[in-house]
Amino acid sequence: MIVFRKAANAGEWCADMREEGLSIGFVPTMGALHRGHISLVEEARRRCDVVVASIFVNPTQFNNAGDLENYPVTLESDQSMLRSAGCDAVFIPTVQEVYPDGQQAGRVEVDLGYIGACLEAEHRPGHFEGVMQVVKRLLDVVNPDKLLLGRKDYQQCLVIRRMVEAYKLPVEVVQCPTVREADGLAMSSRNIRLSPGARREAAEIYRALQAICRDWREHGPHHLTKIYTDKLNAFPQIDVEYLEITDSESLRPISAWSEAGSAVVFAAVWAGGVRLIDNATIY
Ligand code: AMP
Repeated sequence: MIVFRKAANAGEWCADMREEGLSIGFVPTMGALHRGHISLVEEARRRCDVVVASIFVNPTQFNNAGDLENYPVTLESDQSMLRSAGCDAVFIPTVQEVYPDGQQAGRVEVDLGYIGACLEAEHRPGHFEGVMQVVKRLLDVVNPDKLLLGRKDYQQCLVIRRMVEAYKLPVEVVQCPTVREADGLAMSSRNIRLSPGARREAAEIYRALQAICRDWREHGPHHLTKIYTDKLNAFPQIDVEYLEITDSESLRPISAWSEAGSAVVFAAVWAGGVRLIDNATIY
């Protein structure tokens, strides 16, 4: 596996691959890799000739300085996991390399409409602007055929799809399933910050999502989210930031099941001071 630190070198290598007629699958990450990330690399391996990953903790998508400072960094093990998964090249740039003209430069202007105003966008102002900025920059370097993203960050997938459409970028966005721990907790780089007690309680998040997916016919959406918000908040270390049921495409909240052709439940939950998100498709 080749490690690139400079955008120019990574870009040149990717261009050479394309010239040889090889397709490129790209997996952008912020490191602290786990099996969820690796599943994306494996899917890229199945779909493309060449797999490129990136590891970059993007400062412009953090709306909280403490969260950025505490973001786990495990570069050594990240590289060995990528190598074992069959990744061909990894781009590990510095902030200066990604934003040579400063962090305000290269901001992406895309009218996201409601999907850029609800759920994570509402609770983490500026987050998706930072995500679009870094993903656009990375796509410009790598120029992949396929971009592999995790459904765990469902709203992020919609936002990036919208950006790809807006810029008419010649890349296919591939959404991959959420990989979970044995007790159902969605794998996340932030999970290693959970205390043992908070870790145990964090498994309740997916239990609640599963229960909603099971019982939805018996209650209306508002009633269900109220019941499960209260159930989750009854755990001492859990504090629900939001639990919402929305249309799967518009992300507009629904008040009756007939309002959506397909509905998704979204959760953002603090577990012992660590913010976790998850989602599940109801129907
Ligand atoms: P991150 O490092 O958190 O920015 O995530 C990088 C990519 O991995 C994103 O496309 C995420 O949606 C994806 N990802 C994160 N956690 C998981 C998971 N548990 N299962 C599948 N994909 C994931």
